[in-house]
Parts: sequence; structure tokens; C-alpha cells
Amino acid sequence: MFRIGVDLGGTKIEAIALADDGSIPVRLRVATPRHDYRGTLESIAQLVREIESRIGRQASVGVGMPGAISPATGLVKNANSTWLNGKALSEDLSALLDRPIRFANDANCFALSEASDGAAAGASCVFGVIVGTGTGGGVVVNGRVLTGINAIGGEWGHNPLPAPMADELPGPACYCGRRGCIETFLSGPGLARDHERATGLSLEPAEIAGRADAGEPEAKATLERYEDRMARALGSIINVVDPDVIVLGGGMSNIARLYDRVPARWSRYVFSDRVDTRLVPPRHGDSSGVRGAAWLWPVLEVGRSPA
Ligand SMILES: [Zn+2]
Repeated sequence: MFRIGVDLGGTKIEAIALADDGSIPVRLRVATPRHDYRGTLESIAQLVREIESRIGRQASVGVGMPGAISPATGLVKNANSTWLNGKALSEDLSALLDRPIRFANDANCFALSEASDGAAAGASCVFGVIVGTGTGGGVVVNGRVLTGINAIGGEWGHNPLPAPMADELPGPACYCGRRGCIETFLSGPGLARDHERATGLSLEPAEIAGRADAGEPEAKATLERYEDRMARALGSIINVVDPDVIVLGGGMSNIARLYDRVPARWSRYVFSDRVDTRLVPPRHGDSSGVRGAAWLWPVLEVGRSPA
């Protein structure tokens, strides 16, 4: 038996066939047709059809998406892929593929996957964050996603950066309409923008991290600013949720030094004499979101909606 999982990202759409034993016999990726809602729908449908032709049967489809489907209206809200907002994504894709499809916020899928059989397996309280193009988060408690009445549980990225310094105010403009959101500092583009503001150099985040590891002073300074901001942002989460484990996902989770340096800094922002929360990389790497999407079906069948 197979389940199809789709991860609808801002730059790529990934789809997998997930087998019962956790293996992935088929994995496909295409570039996201940005600012093209109809094209986005068609791309997802084509990926699903291609997978089904390869596995030789129809399968359930779960989709991890940016933002959420509003419980009140059925329309997408809060997506940083802004061309999805206000659209009837669930209804339209179900019609296109002629079957019911389950949706969950991409960070919730990520958190659920890592809490179930990933880096936070066995932990009772898990905060999963995706820090890449955007900055999302999901809370899993005792194996269940904390969706919330507004479907925004775990959405820390549009809180203001905590304890801002003078040169962090008012902060970069965010697509949500505010300034100085955590996402504008911690996302990959946020790191690149901060480095460019300080040095005049426009570099990819991975290049900045590589230069920091090689000892380049300006890149090290950028990473230190970044790490302190992440420590403040996660410290405020620890104060509220007090998770056993925080799993980092998304492109920024590939920066190895974060796992030592951020916890070394977050104690000063947490209201506790000691902090036992662990910050860990994802076990399933970039696959976690799409795996969590695939698992939406059996998870949903045994209980309340995790998304
Ligand atoms: Zn924002």
C-alpha cells in the first residue's frame, strides 16, 4: 500500500509515494509556478498522476501547504506563497483529482513527521520549525498536532523579533504588512539581506555560512547576529510551550553550527535556571514535510484532524 504526499513549497513542489514500511519508491520535484494559481493546481495534479502511473494504482493524497485553510471560510490564508491566499485550494484540487484530499500546514506536517518517526521520536512535546524561504512552526503534543481554533498553532514567524536592539527597529517590511517579523530576520532571504546590509555583498545563505566556517570575520559576525536572533525567537517559544525538543527544518537547518551556538545563547532569554530543551536537525532532512503530508490519512483516520 502507498500514500502520496505532496509538499507545496514556495520554490518547488515535491511529491512522493510513501510505502507502509517508510520507504519512498517514487519521488518527483518540479519548480513551483509562482504567482500562477491555476498552474500550481495543474502541477500538483500532474505529479499525482505521474506517481500513480509508476506505482500502478490510485492512492490517498495529503498535501502540506504554506499557511492554512481557514476553518471558517475554507479558503487559504497566511500563505507566504501569496497567490494561494483567498483561493479554494482544497475544493479545487479535490475536483481536479476527483477525490477527497487532506491538507495541513507544511510546518505542522514537518513537526508531525519528526515527532512520529524522526529526530524527536519519543518526546512528548515537540516544536518543529521550518526556516527556509519563510519561517513556519508546528507544535506536537503526545503525537497530536496542536492546530488551534484559528489554524495558526505554532505560527511564530510573524511575531515581532523579541528584545529588538536599536538597529533592528523598525525592522524589514514583511509581506504580512508588518515590520520586523521574526521571518524577516530568520528566513534564508532574511539572513542574506542582513549580510548585504552589513557588507554590501549579496550572497546565498549557504555561502555566508561556508565563509563563516572558514573564519571570514564579516560572515562570522552575520552568523552571530543571526544566532542571537534565533535564540531570542526560540527562547520566547520555550517560555510558552516548554518543548522537550525543537527540530529545525528548511534550508537553514543545514547550517551545522546553529545546533551548538543557538542553545548556548538561548539560556539568557529563557525564564529558567537551566534549559534542557534540545535543538536538533531533522532525521528525514528535506523529506520530513512531504512524509508528514503522506501520513495525514492514517493519522486522521485514528483521531481528530492533526492539521
Ligand atoms: Zn510578517
